[in-house]
Amino acid sequence: MKYAPLKGVHDLINQDADDIYRIISLTSLCANTYGYTPIIVPTIESTSLYQREQKDSSDMVTKEMYTFLDKGNRSISLRPEFTAGVLRAVISNKMHTQKELPIKLYYQGSCFRYERPQAGRYREFSQLGVEAIDEPSIYLDLEVLLLGCAMLYRLDLDFPFKVKVNYLPSKEGRKKYVEALKKYFKPHLENMCLDCKNRYKTNPLRILDCKVEEDKKLIKKAPKISDFYTEEEREKVELIKDVLKEEEIKFEIDETLVRGLDYYSGLVFEYVVDNKVGDEVGSIGGGGHYDSLVEELGGPSNLEGVGFSFGMERLLRCYQELPNYMPRTGHILFSFIPLNEEGIDVAFSLVNVVRSFGHMPCSMPYKVKSLKAGLRKASNEKASYAVIIGEDEIKKEIVTVKDLHTGTQEEVSVDHFLDYVVSLIQERTMKMFDDGEKKKPKNKKN
Ligand code: AMP
Repeated sequence: MKYAPLKGVHDLINQDADDIYRIISLTSLCANTYGYTPIIVPTIESTSLYQREQKDSSDMVTKEMYTFLDKGNRSISLRPEFTAGVLRAVISNKMHTQKELPIKLYYQGSCFRYERPQAGRYREFSQLGVEAIDEPSIYLDLEVLLLGCAMLYRLDLDFPFKVKVNYLPSKEGRKKYVEALKKYFKPHLENMCLDCKNRYKTNPLRILDCKVEEDKKLIKKAPKISDFYTEEEREKVELIKDVLKEEEIKFEIDETLVRGLDYYSGLVFEYVVDNKVGDEVGSIGGGGHYDSLVEELGGPSNLEGVGFSFGMERLLRCYQELPNYMPRTGHILFSFIPLNEEGIDVAFSLVNVVRSFGHMPCSMPYKVKSLKAGLRKASNEKASYAVIIGEDEIKKEIVTVKDLHTGTQEEVSVDHFLDYVVSLIQERTMKMFDDGEKKKPKNKKN
């Protein structure tokens, strides 16, 4: 092969591409319902947006960024995540002074991380997510967490997910907790992995994130984060649990969940899928509250934020594994089969009439085919109807419409073809409405 995709990147084709668009449109609708509007931000930003003065110790920032000098000798990085870019856009466009708070945005697009490719881990992958910016409120944090759940319900009412939740204490408590962790890990450090040794120096909290078996045993016995909460934080954690129970969200408090990036504080969470594929791909999404990032990026100190992002490829894999997953069919509704040159002429004008009317996807070949080949094509396209135009039809100024599900066929006058299409739309809309009424949610909500 002359050109193959680069290591760690992939093409999404056929059903996968179709499903990605389906996921984007369903989750966008959901975000709209919650009052979120779309934002589109650049893929390239100045490297300093991610490598800030208050250095982030995450692997993503320290090791995985795609960074290069442009022709003007400026250091540029490909977007490794959305939060910093979205906040930069809010601040540079002064959205926080011009719009009512909270500012609620959703986004979708590629991210780039130079990671070791493996199942569910790519170097270019796609995220969709939201950011909400306002003065801090645990209710806004919960709204964002619940919006992620609503998106999963919207994709399918039986999506078997759960949310891992933790609460990272404020600066004072965090400082004390970090000191306690350092004291606890110090005598063991020599036998811990290299990453942990580095994290001990840069951000000991992130040791809790270590996936090395031996280190995990130590982490189990480490001081508990909840012992460092203030009374107010304890109450917030209780509120979080109450709301999640009330909303019937399956959740688990995971005191070792610290998330990859250093800017999180307060509520943090991850969405995981409770089945074989979920175990294989890891978390499908995650996010949390950040208290000082808005200010760090040049915004006002009273504004904080909360957001999450889903990894589209992982979401896609889990979505396609759902027991009731149905590939979208009936893309092409009418497959035209002209059996001679004159038939192509008639078909072309009917196809254009139908297309300009909208709603009804149709296809036609520009070369004459036999009836057999035309029907095979219609079947491959999963068309609902074949529209046959042969010598007889041309003489009578009609087309023969064959229902490919029932096998029945009828003659429709060329002049009234559009009326026929309109009546079909009405019939199908009624049927969809009836089916929707019958489909009762087994799980819950939205
Ligand atoms: P993060 O921005 O690291 O919090 O990741 C949010 C979500 O993006 C994760 O839960 C994954 O679903 C997805 N994700 C992160 N890194 C990758 C990657 N290298 N390849 C595919 N998906 C990823």
